Amino acid sequence: MIIVIVIAALIAVGAIAFILTVRAKDLPEPEPVSPFQHLDERKAAIYENLRDLQFEYRVGKLSDNDYQQTKKDLQRELAGVMAEVDRIKLQLSPNGAVPPPRPAEPKPVVDPLTCPHCGAKFAQALKFCGECGKAMKVAHS
Ligand SMILES: [Zn+2]
Repeated sequence: MIIVIVIAALIAVGAIAFILTVRAKDLPEPEPVSPFQHLDERKAAIYENLRDLQFEYRVGKLSDNDYQQTKKDLQRELAGVMAEVDRIKLQLSPNGAVPPPRPAEPKPVVDPLTCPHCGAKFAQALKFCGECGKAMKVAHS
């Protein structure tokens, strides 16, 4: 009888462990949060505050001075959020304002020993190419 209870207990423990494992695995991965999301939320909140502010001003709850001051603060905050959005956009964009430095293009090397027409190489500078007969450009220094 005791053995039956032990087995039952083991099965129960096993089942619980199984359920917990499966649950942990089945949990959906947290969705990747857009880098703009918190900024979008802040922007929306500021817009809402501006609307509220305008409403309160219209119904006479706010003095002219308070209204102007709060509005200015909100607009400054909004500008800050916009600037942050722009900054992140630039960082994400492959064609941002700050492109990665390009490797310098190799400068054509003027080699007096190489024919510019056919590419033949010679041990000494020649006036005319021994291969194609065209004039070799010799850099006068
Ligand atoms: Zn040549």
